[in-house]
Amino acid sequence: MPKENQTSMNFEDLDLSKEIRSALRQMNFSEMTPVQRETIPVMMAGHDVIAIAPTGTGKTLAFGIPMLEYISLRDSRIQEVVLAPTRELAVQIGEELTKLSAFIPELRLCVLYGGQPISRQLDKLRRHPQVIVATPGRLLDHFQRGTVRLDAVHTLVLDEADEMLDMGFIKDVTRIIEAIPPARQFVMFSATTNQDVLTISWKYQHDPVEITIEATEENRPQITQYVIPVDRGNKYDRLLYLLDSDEYQRVMIFTNTKDMARRLNDRLSKAGYESEALHGDIPQSKRSQVMTAFKKGRFPILVCTDVAARGIDVFDVEAVINYDLPNENEYYLHRIGRTGRAKRHGVAFTLMDFRDSVRMDEILRYMKTAPTPLRFSENEILCTEDGEPFFDNI
Ligand code: ADP
Ligand code: MG
Repeated sequence: MPKENQTSMNFEDLDLSKEIRSALRQMNFSEMTPVQRETIPVMMAGHDVIAIAPTGTGKTLAFGIPMLEYISLRDSRIQEVVLAPTRELAVQIGEELTKLSAFIPELRLCVLYGGQPISRQLDKLRRHPQVIVATPGRLLDHFQRGTVRLDAVHTLVLDEADEMLDMGFIKDVTRIIEAIPPARQFVMFSATTNQDVLTISWKYQHDPVEITIEATEENRPQITQYVIPVDRGNKYDRLLYLLDSDEYQRVMIFTNTKDMARRLNDRLSKAGYESEALHGDIPQSKRSQVMTAFKKGRFPILVCTDVAARGIDVFDVEAVINYDLPNENEYYLHRIGRTGRAKRHGVAFTLMDFRDSVRMDEILRYMKTAPTPLRFSENEILCTEDGEPFFDNI
């Protein structure tokens, strides 16, 4: 391979500051993921980027590292803005960037999202953050109140751009982009492309470098997928069987509606399982508490809807259970992507009743990988197709 085409594999091969290198060492990261390998040098060279990469491939650091390398610490204006579709995701990006700036004490970062009192955010803004991570609505709110100025921003990142635009944030996002000086660097990250993503890119990016990372073996999360046929009447019991069969420290159970998440969580809690629910009707302060407690391993079972869980990175989710089959194919990918993060191994179980079979076929065509079928034997033991018990302890 000609020398100029050789891509660096390790963070050490890049020309990074000693502060960032120390932080990466502390985080125990040495080898870059493919999206990091491709994006970091291009962003550091100042280009606009549109990067499409599957979930769980390390996109946060792919933009986080160049961002933090280009902060001018003596400047106390807002220089960099990351927009994320949900509060949880904004908080999570904030946490990852905080870890990355562990050796840069002068760096001030502020996370802004709806649902948190404005007054508390004003206190944080008075500390003159150089980096803002925000949901679009709340950032625009601050901008219009004059509590946030965007005229010194030189890097704008849209994370999970597809989701953000799907969620109806296109107007807010557009206003924010237009409030930022046109000479800025504008970077978009997305798990998929859609028309809105392409339109924003076309309208506002300058000669963007397009980076597409396929879901290859190398970066595909290691998730073993199983599908278990159930009857409508015994779905809950089948779920309990799964929960009882392994000593899971962290399991996420997905439902399609808030109502179902609430009811299922109530039912599990009454049955003595340590579980909590996460969905859009839960007040923000409570949602943050639940997320933090789940990440810390304070309870093992989280029952959640898609929107509440989008993009959330919880290390060590051992199993994802689709209690309901998702309505959107992409949701299936995002749900199972909660496990098997960063080359760890995870399992995903989908409980499928006969009415779901058409949907399941659509998902299979979309995923291009088939989950392994499991079934319950006559004596109610979960078995593989060869009739072997699936869990060894039974
Ligand atoms: P994405 O945004 O693509 O879904 P994240 O940025 O949330 O992915 O990263 C997924 C997980 O991988 C996180 O826990 C993150 O800390 C971890 N991670 C990121 N980069 C690396 C790396 N180079 N080596 C090992 N783990 C990494
Ligand atoms: Mg992400």
